[in-house]
Amino acid sequence: MRRILILGGTAEARELATELHAQGHHVITSLAGRVARPRLPVGEVRIGGFGGPDALATWLREHEIAALVDATHPFAQRISASAVRAADQAGVPLLRLERPGWTEGPGDRWHWVDDLEQAAARIPRLGARALLTTGRQGLSAFAGVSDAWFLIRCVDPPADPLPPRREILLDRGPYTLEGERTLIDSYEIDVVVTKDSGGHHTRAKLDAARARELPVILVRRPPRPEVDTVAGTDEVVAWVTAKSRARPRFQAGVSGFIRR
Ligand code: NAP
Repeated sequence: MRRILILGGTAEARELATELHAQGHHVITSLAGRVARPRLPVGEVRIGGFGGPDALATWLREHEIAALVDATHPFAQRISASAVRAADQAGVPLLRLERPGWTEGPGDRWHWVDDLEQAAARIPRLGARALLTTGRQGLSAFAGVSDAWFLIRCVDPPADPLPPRREILLDRGPYTLEGERTLIDSYEIDVVVTKDSGGHHTRAKLDAARARELPVILVRRPPRPEVDTVAGTDEVVAWVTAKSRARPRFQAGVSGFIRR
């Protein structure tokens, strides 16, 4: 059976692994190794960086990968760029699975910014007690904000530097609307800060902010490489099934046959 590599670290990557596994595909999910106790998908799992695009290309060839699915987080830029280069080098078909971003609705008070630094600069104008849900990485952008208090929610303990006035809340989604409303009320949160991660698992904070008429600072998604992209796991399953049926093409090379 030919193998499928999923670049994971997201809920939809786990859902995809479950669906492909159920259809009899040999699935390997790759995780970066950032989280101490990751939620593991079904099927085979490998953990840790590959060592850049060239090393990923070698890995794809050595493990006879028939199709590569980049299901990493919309803010994980480097691994996605690596996937494009490696797939091209190794001649492996690549598809991107990406959840749509969030869209503003009536009653929302959203403020879009380009990066974490802009988010930090915007906070004091909008509130004094911020719920910060941008993840463990990049928190140093908020270290200089001393005129606001932060509730920093992340999966694993963050590293310094951090904002001077803060509390750390270790937790992971999915979250409920009721839970998010209770959190906002009990900590007297008056501004919410998040990346435009999209999806259902962490959306409840936006609905809770709307219910409490709070401003939300949203960090826009970074630019991504151009690659065929779908939003649903069904489309990936259909694509993988077609790709793994296709026979590998072989071409005569200098030292024998090379896979293209
Ligand atoms: P990144 O900046 O794009 O990646 C940095 C390096 O980590 C990559 O160059 C690669 O190392 C390695 N890497 C990343 N994802 C990998 C994977 N799935 N399998 C193997 N190696 C991987 O990524 P990041 O923003 O640090 O995110 C790391 C992981 O966390 C991603 O897999 C992502 O799906 C997940 N995640 C990220 C966020 C976020 O906000 N960024 C949120 C939730 C989940 P080499 O160059 O050595 O191959």
